Amino acid sequence: MVATVIDGKAFAETVRARVKAHVARLDRDHAVQPGLAVVLVGEDPASEVYVRSKGKATTQAGMKSIEHKLDAATSEGELLALIVRLNGDETIHGILVQLPLPDHIDTDKVLAAITPAKDVDGFHISNVGLLATGQKAMVPCTPLGCLMMLREHYGALSGLEAVVIGRSNIVGKPMAHLLLKESCTVTIAHSRTRDLPDVVRRADIVVAAVGRPAMVTADWIKPGATVIDVGINRIDKPEGGTRLVGDVDYPNVAQVAGAITPVPGGVGPMTIACLLANTVTACCRIHNLPEPE
Ligand code: NDP
Repeated sequence: MVATVIDGKAFAETVRARVKAHVARLDRDHAVQPGLAVVLVGEDPASEVYVRSKGKATTQAGMKSIEHKLDAATSEGELLALIVRLNGDETIHGILVQLPLPDHIDTDKVLAAITPAKDVDGFHISNVGLLATGQKAMVPCTPLGCLMMLREHYGALSGLEAVVIGRSNIVGKPMAHLLLKESCTVTIAHSRTRDLPDVVRRADIVVAAVGRPAMVTADWIKPGATVIDVGINRIDKPEGGTRLVGDVDYPNVAQVAGAITPVPGGVGPMTIACLLANTVTACCRIHNLPEPE
């Protein structure tokens, strides 16, 4: 068997076009423009790239984009004051603080300061609680993108056996809650899981969110299973230079799986598309307008 490649890049384009159309309708019918504020503290090169591409995508969708680039020495108090200002800014519907923050700033405290209605990353404890209890929440972008690809591929997910490898607050746990909400039978695996290959072999759906290059090998995969690879790992190429690989041994797993997401071009582009979608959703909820489907 050779797996169907789930083209996250193409699907993300579709989502972005839908977002753009909704933004145009909001402008035409309600004179409302969704706005996203992205806050970056310090000069981490990877974070700078993410922030730039988020800003560009926001503008391309017809939304207002503002970026706050703060010095690495910015105090926690100054950052909290900026968030209070953005919470009160009526032109801003989404606030995203790029992680990781410098060590002298308490990340939990900063995330807790964002008003939950504008928490487009879905990291505020209120949104975490709403998601965990199956209620309407702002959902973290990466797992939301994974779910959208799974729904597109399968239709209904009810009754399927899902194994999520990784239990982080930003990917693994929210992914598991989303799959549970879809009535999957969900197992969350992590670094202490015993017999991980055996656990993964049960799965109709495997979501790998670990951060270890090519850890998931073909012999772990039930023939025909769907494999979603969240991992982004930069490795050295034998001929020099580097390249990005996921947590899944793609060439070999693709011979066994029924469907698989590539890296790059799978989960990554969907994450940004979902950020845009979340910003429109937040805007609609704040203005009490119909949300995008
Ligand atoms: P974390 O480091 O926060 O979590 C990694 C998880 O993997 C932990 O739960 C850890 O277990 C588990 N783990 C580590 N080693 C093993 C092992 N040998 N066997 C089983 N489980 C293991 O990472 P994130 O969740 O933040 O990210 C995961 C990956 O996804 C990274 O590569 C990251 O770059 C990528 N990512 C990609 C995004 C995208 O847009 N495509 C967005 C966000 C992340 P334990 O809890 O026991 O330590």
